[in-house]
Amino acid sequence: MSDHSLPKTVDPLKYADQNKVLEGEIALELMPRLLEIVLESEAEVKIRLEFDRDEQKLRVLKGQLSADLVLVCERCLEPVNKRVESEFALGIVLTDEQAKNLPGYYEPLLVDPESLELLEVIEEELMLSLPMFAYHDDCELDTSALRNEEVEQSQKDEDKPNPFSVLSELKLKK
Ligand SMILES: [Zn+2]
Repeated sequence: MSDHSLPKTVDPLKYADQNKVLEGEIALELMPRLLEIVLESEAEVKIRLEFDRDEQKLRVLKGQLSADLVLVCERCLEPVNKRVESEFALGIVLTDEQAKNLPGYYEPLLVDPESLELLEVIEEELMLSLPMFAYHDDCELDTSALRNEEVEQSQKDEDKPNPFSVLSELKLKK
């Protein structure tokens, strides 16, 4: 497993001051919230995290992640492969007050000064970048085929003699 290539926790303030860059892969199996959504747990999430201080000396965490996930198609409920990619820019803050003062282009990342769980950050970002609705590009073909079958079925029903139509004919003849 390649999840050991990244430290489990980091000191986010020190990392930002030192402009640390982390690259690696984390096993999807380590992310319980995602495991509830995906159909296939064997996947690696590729990540690149750059801790830095921006021009305003704010501590930031810029990240990119990508993963190939197997999700449930919302239309046909069959598995569908989806590549999920995301870029994010987080402002590292210690208090709600600091979070409020962040420029709008940073999402606040509220941290304990000494230990930031990388896995939690990555899982959260991955959750946020999941497609709202996952479905096959060519799934409409499948559902229209289903509809055709329904139409054929109802046409067959019409061919059967309907006892009530006989009754109504009788009534009319009176
Ligand atoms: Zn589908």
